[in-house]
This record gives sequence, C-alpha cells and structure tokens, in this order.
Amino acid sequence: MKIRFCGATREVTGSKHLIIVNDKRVLLDCGLYQGYRREAYAKNNAFPFKPSSVDALVLSHSHIDHCGNIPGLVKKGFEGSIYATSATRDLCSYMLMDSAMIQERDAEYLKKHEKTHKSPIEPLYDEKDVKKSLNQFVSVGYERAFAITDGVAGCFYEAGHILGSAISHFILYDKTADKRCTLAYSGDLGRKGLPILKDPQYFPPTDYLIIESTYGDRTHDDVANIQKELADIVNKTAERGGKILIPSFALERTQELIYHFNLLSRSHEIPNIPIFVDSPLSIRVTDVFKAHPECFDKETAELIKNKENPFGFGELKYISDVEDSKKLNEYHGPCIIIAASGMAEHGRILHHLKNNIEDPKTTVLFVGFQADHTLGRKLVDGAKIATIFGEDYKVNAEIHKIDAFSGHADKNELMDFVMHIRGLKKIFIVHGEEKQSEAFAQALKEKGYETHIPKFAEEVEIE
Ligand SMILES: [Zn+2]
Repeated sequence: MKIRFCGATREVTGSKHLIIVNDKRVLLDCGLYQGYRREAYAKNNAFPFKPSSVDALVLSHSHIDHCGNIPGLVKKGFEGSIYATSATRDLCSYMLMDSAMIQERDAEYLKKHEKTHKSPIEPLYDEKDVKKSLNQFVSVGYERAFAITDGVAGCFYEAGHILGSAISHFILYDKTADKRCTLAYSGDLGRKGLPILKDPQYFPPTDYLIIESTYGDRTHDDVANIQKELADIVNKTAERGGKILIPSFALERTQELIYHFNLLSRSHEIPNIPIFVDSPLSIRVTDVFKAHPECFDKETAELIKNKENPFGFGELKYISDVEDSKKLNEYHGPCIIIAASGMAEHGRILHHLKNNIEDPKTTVLFVGFQADHTLGRKLVDGAKIATIFGEDYKVNAEIHKIDAFSGHADKNELMDFVMHIRGLKKIFIVHGEEKQSEAFAQALKEKGYETHIPKFAEEVEIE
C-alpha cells in the first residue's frame, strides 16, 4: 500500500494525493494549481500520473484548489466515480462552471493582448467537460461507510471548513500481504464556532493521517469578536454617511457575512441600512446553502426553526443583473455592498472601488486572506494610489481588515485536532508553505508524534 503526494506539497494549492492499494488507484482531491499564469498552466496541464489509470476520486470540498482540475482529469480520460457529500456536489456544479468561464475569458484576453511569439494558453477545460464530470459524482452522506474499490472503503466526517466539507477516513486492505490499515485525510480543516457550520468532528482510530498546515505556525483572532468588530465598522461609516464595500469570495465568506449582519440587524446593533450582495455566483451558492440544512450547526437550525431566514432579511437585497449593479453607483447614503472578488482582483467590486475609493466617507473592509501582488494586498498594506482598470485613484477611503474570518484551523486548533485521534503511527503534513509545515511538524514532534513533510511526487509505503 502506498501514498503518492501529487500536489499541495510544501505549498498551498493543487491538492492531489494518490492512494495505491491492490494495484487500484484512488485519488484524494484534484485541485487546480493557482499561481503565475504560465507556470500554473503547465502544472495543471500535466498530471503526474495517467488520468485514465485512476479508479476513483474522493473529494474533500468544493474550493477550487481542491476540486478545480476535476474536469481536466475527466477530459484526459478519468472515467471513475467521484465521491463527495451532496452539498459539495451541488457547490461544485457552480464553482466548476464558473472556473470554466473564467478560463475561457482569460484565454480570449491573452489572445488579444499577449505577444504572438508566446505559445497560446488554451482553457484547461470547457463547460462540456464540467457537465461530463458532474455526471460522475456520487453523493454520500456524513458517517456512512461506502465501498470505493477493491480493498478501499471510505467514510466522511464533518470538517467544519465550508458547507459540505469533509474529513475522509479510509480502511485499506492489501490482499497479497493480507494486511489492513486505516488512513484519514483532513482536507481543509475548519474551526470550532464558525457560523452556520458544524464544528470539525472527531473520528475512529487512525494509523496514518494526511493533514493540512495552512496556519501551522499562526494563531487567529477569536471567532467571537467578529460581530463586535463588524458592528463598530458599520456604525462609524454609517454615521459619516459612507458606503461599506466588502470584497468577498462568493463561497462561504459571503454567507457568513450575511449571517452576521442578520443577527446584528435583529439586535439593532447596526442601523437599518441597505445591504447589497452584488454577485450572481454568490446568489447561486447561497441557494445551495438553503438546500442543505443538514450541514447547519445548532444555532442556524434554531433560527430556521423560529422561521427566521439567515440568508435573507429586511435590509438584504441580492443583485444579479449588471444594469442593477450599475444603478448602485447612483445610490447615495450609507449602505453595505458585498461583491466578488475577495482579493479585489476582478469582478464587480472593482467598479464599486473605482467609484467610491476617493471618497473619505467610504470604508473598504477585507475579510479574507490577501495574496501578494493583488490590489487587496496593496490596499491592506497602505497603498495611497489604487490602479483600477488602468487608471490611478487616490485612496481616501478607510481600509480595514478583520482577521478572525479564517475558515482554517490555526496551530492550536490543528494540534487539538491531532491529539483527539487515537492510534496514530505517522502524520503526513501537506497544504502549507514550507515554513508553516515545518513549524507544525516540529510542534508535533515535541508531543512525540512521528511526522513527514512529503515532496512533490514522493511515494511512501504504508502498512
Ligand atoms: Zn478550502
């Protein structure tokens, strides 16, 4: 029995791990590598295994760095089943279509603007490939054992990271050696106390664990402080008559924001000002949330029982149409506008920033990780000028960032998670920048655990 680590090794994108048992191959996640355009394209276009040789895929959740290259795998010959929770399957249908559309737009833009001597970048896949992939999905509920292939059975447990996210637990049986072992894969691990979602679940004893380490060396602010910080920012901005612009990812963060604003509005901790969710993808994703109450925590289930709708209330308006989005420019007076993208790199948020960033009454509030070189990162770092659609704008708006919004466990939460698992022989640390993975490995060693940080395409024996 072997594991081959084929992505998110000593980095955070492109998750792919291959389990090999009885000559059968089961792939855990098939994420898109995200980074500099040409490097990303080359990595995503070449799988470090033959796609047609994979017997089945088990998917942890619907973030693009975990599911985004499934249509690429199918296009190149993968014909097996894709096991996922039903919320993950529903979210993938929108996330993967969106990814196909972005790639198509990107390729068109490059054809127009890049120099001709460069080899063309084609989309990795199109909508047809996405549709074909969706037909291969098999939805499985949490805590239900399912047979995957000869010698491999799996079971999903709540990961508490985004809607539908799962920790996968496997029983592996090597027929030739007549040996059995257990393996768990954390996917991305969430945090206790995140709104809407259930907390990460503990699961049966495990010999081997593959665990993420995004924040292996960092701690987050307390989740409980989020509402207070949000209320402060909204109240101050509304008092001076300004708009609050929130660049936000369509999946999870937007729904969390809506959830918090609903509670703040009900308890009159923020004024009754309009809240606009200006993103067609967010609207579709929110519909998937509504369809999956089985994933909600007690507090959210209680709200629904009391006939409250945590995803729609008096002041909240969803905007799909582009013309309606443009009309927001004519709206004067305090309001909250939530729009993609989360790092202010593209999408409708750019129009709102362009129109409001020079106004000192405006607040721009960041609620997620801001990668290097993005407009979001520049603003958070205090840039005085913002370049939007090729034009320079003076940054007179107030810029804020709330750190407590992370959907990933921090170093203490990761450690607490590991310490609840019985029977661990070895821990493989993935999905973290080298510094984060090494710090987490060191902390685990100090507690007496055996750890390993695999390199790309490294194969390890398990028994
Ligand atoms: Zn994730």
